[in-house]
Amino acid sequence: MRLRGMDGQVDILIIGGGMAGLSAATALAGTGARVTVLDKGRGPGGRMAARRVEIGGQQVSFDHGAQYFTARDPDFRETVAAWEAAGVAARWPAAGADAWVGTPGMNAPVRAMGEALDVRWNVRAERLLRDGALWRVEAGEEVFTAATVLVAVPAEQAAVLLAEAAPDFAARAAAVASEPCWAEMAAFAEPLPLADTFRSDSGPVSWAARNSAKPGRSGAETWVIHASPARSRELIDLPKDEVAAILLADFFAATGAPAATPQHLDAHRWLYAQPEARKLEGSLYDPELRIGIAGDWLHSPRVEGAWLSGRAFAEALRQERLASTS
Ligand SMILES: Cc1cc2nc3c(=O)[nH]c(=O)nc-3n(C[C@H](O)[C@H](O)[C@H](O)COP(=O)(O)OP(=O)(O)OC[C@H]3O[C@@H](n4cnc5c(N)ncnc54)[C@H](O)[C@@H]3O)c2cc1C
Repeated sequence: MRLRGMDGQVDILIIGGGMAGLSAATALAGTGARVTVLDKGRGPGGRMAARRVEIGGQQVSFDHGAQYFTARDPDFRETVAAWEAAGVAARWPAAGADAWVGTPGMNAPVRAMGEALDVRWNVRAERLLRDGALWRVEAGEEVFTAATVLVAVPAEQAAVLLAEAAPDFAARAAAVASEPCWAEMAAFAEPLPLADTFRSDSGPVSWAARNSAKPGRSGAETWVIHASPARSRELIDLPKDEVAAILLADFFAATGAPAATPQHLDAHRWLYAQPEARKLEGSLYDPELRIGIAGDWLHSPRVEGAWLSGRAFAEALRQERLASTS
């Protein structure tokens, strides 16, 4: 086993490099703390994911997770303005007056945040153990040590990871249920005769969007189609090719567009797409154990909620430090 963190003493280890984890990491790194982030994903995004595929010799990217985000909190608005200035976010009026997307893909803001931090992609934390005054985090062949740990992963995954290390937090996480979402990615040779977005609160398709019409995208006519939570649960264990065919038929039936044969068709299952909407504490921190939890499920089931949750954790540590030095 390789040991990391003992040499230069990692102050804070963050498990989960989605919007919540990287929001916390950005704020904490700004205070001079040595922060390392572990993420099991191959690349940045978490649920703000973008999938690149080649269609007809062209690289095309689909946002198959979060479709857009809103910015209502003043601090988050300031951050989004900085992303816009850096070219990693832009307004997308087709989804609403206050709608923003990452550019050129939805994961761009997370990618940009990660580039300024020490993030280890492709590293899955498997076990958290107390080791004297430190935390020891086992991740495959590697072991990381840190004084403080933040777990910033979806509730269902946090419940498993925290079961031994922080049973109270694990119980909080286990009480949260998330809705699944089957997401379909389709490309067509010709534009479909539809508006750029479609929403429904009742039918099997809750959302569909012309991905290629988002700012900063180019290439083929692409669509992302989200099955409603009820439809996603019905199809939950079917093979993805079967789901893709069913959702395509649902899409044409729901929108009234004439059926067309896609040049590319794929589906992705999000088991924990969005937690139930109930505002909790924002984040939680146990100063005795020096462990915290953050994520959209602790604030609100959105990109902005995840960002605010990560910020709330960083603020809890800042307050603790202020109290200890006063
Ligand atoms: C289909 C779909 C549609 C959505 N639509 C919208 C929308 O339109 N607008 C909106 O605002 N929000 C939307 N959301 C929600 C939004 O994406 C989330 O609220 C937000 O991205 C959550 O961020 P997070 O950091 O809390 O979690 P995540 O983005 O899930 O980040 C958690 C990270 O932890 C990593 N991880 C998990 N377990 C481990 C482990 N053991 N070790 C290491 N790493 C681990 C994961 O790889 C992931 O990167 C949507 C989500 C989905 C899936």
